[in-house]
Amino acid sequence: MTVSTDQQTVPSYAGAQAPAADQATGLLIIGASQSGVQLAISLRALGFDDHITLLGDEDHRPYQRPALSKEYLQGKVGSESLIFRTNEYWIDHNITLIKNERIDDIQRDQQHPGAGIAYGRSGATYPYRRLALTVGASPRRLEVAGGNLPGVVYLRNADDAIELKALVPEAKDVVVVGGGFIGLEAASSLHELGKNVTVLEHGPKLIGRAVGEQTSQYFLNQHRHRGLDIRLEAQIDEILADDNGDVKAVRLTNGEEVAAQIVLIGIGVVPNTQLADILGLEINNGIVVNAHALASDGNTIVAGDVANMPNPVPGSPTNERIRMESVNNAIEHAKVAAYSLMGRSEEYAGIPWFWSNQADIKLQIAGLSTGFDQTVVRDDTNRGKFSVLYYRDGQIIAADCANAPLDFMAVKQALGKGKNIDPEAAAEVSTMLKTLIA
Ligand code: NAP
Repeated sequence: MTVSTDQQTVPSYAGAQAPAADQATGLLIIGASQSGVQLAISLRALGFDDHITLLGDEDHRPYQRPALSKEYLQGKVGSESLIFRTNEYWIDHNITLIKNERIDDIQRDQQHPGAGIAYGRSGATYPYRRLALTVGASPRRLEVAGGNLPGVVYLRNADDAIELKALVPEAKDVVVVGGGFIGLEAASSLHELGKNVTVLEHGPKLIGRAVGEQTSQYFLNQHRHRGLDIRLEAQIDEILADDNGDVKAVRLTNGEEVAAQIVLIGIGVVPNTQLADILGLEINNGIVVNAHALASDGNTIVAGDVANMPNPVPGSPTNERIRMESVNNAIEHAKVAAYSLMGRSEEYAGIPWFWSNQADIKLQIAGLSTGFDQTVVRDDTNRGKFSVLYYRDGQIIAADCANAPLDFMAVKQALGKGKNIDPEAAAEVSTMLKTLIA
């Protein structure tokens, strides 16, 4: 493994010994992500006895991402506490962990279905008998003039978080572009660190892709009350530089300039489908998989954010497909993938759920609200609780719960058991939802 240009990377090996380049490793997992790590761990727990190589393109041991926009950014936790497993774990479980390597090309073995060779940017090759893609998604880039200035940052991985954190002490004003999860979590963290924070959302509401109108409005009110300057339907014209070439402001299309020494972009992600494209797999808003995490070739395993899968929620419309961007899905889908590699056709277990901590508000979402036709709002703001229950054809399908963990647990339980919660009775906030599960 040698390196000769700036564009190339040097893979580094943590854990078990690196395989010889010409030695076929059993399973190659590309993407040392939450789902990649879970897949490797689940396989060992299930007794998978072939060799596993877990390969990632970051120069960090696999780590948890949720804290990056919150506790890590605020200096409440250090990077070591985010690491999933010790080096000893990977060695003991015969999993070769390869960091800092990027796969740019893959060739199938024409003689052996499912097998092939992956080509690393470092020049190393990685032969495999089976392949899993847990490659996740990348931040959508903001294409505006000034979008590449120093001080314009994204927040998806550890290096992004390190870069952002280093800028924080010198900054007084921060503009966050995008009123989704990353934007609102980071905006809240930065505001708590004493920054003037303006959130620019181009749509008419916050967290518009994940929650309904009432929850959006609740978060808008709560964040404004806590001091975030939130602008909806804000269109960015240009990001402006000072005399040193560093970012100094964001200009909106209405001519207004918002001061910023940091501009953090969180405008969604794009699934990483490049390798699937090389392999000729079906792609449609991510890599298309069946209920057992198998891609269209019937051999390649795909799990996590990048996978477009049949909706796993019991009772969901037939043939509905979804791509879920969440930790819980990365874990559960990787378990399905592990069973699939073991030759077992296990279904996705449990109900999708999701959480987001923004300032002192803990949002928990149970189920998927797509296709709802009725909502019930449980507004108990005097006690700091707020929930919205979603129904389709009179049947509960999801709930957004802000600082209302009992509501969340009751809805999750009802969904898991295929039961309902009467909407009329649920509207009475003093009634415990769990008493209504029927
Ligand atoms: P997101 O949740 O999809 O939110 C992006 C927001 O930016 C949307 O409201 C979007 O509006 C808006 N937007 C898009 N283009 C814009 C533009 N040009 N100007 C202003 N606003 C624009 O994505 P994210 O916040 O970037 O998060 C990225 C990923 O990380 C997601 O997969 C998210 O689920 C994940 N994440 C999860 C957590 C958690 O689990 N707690 C925390 C952080 C991040 P439109 O919808 O109208 O395009």
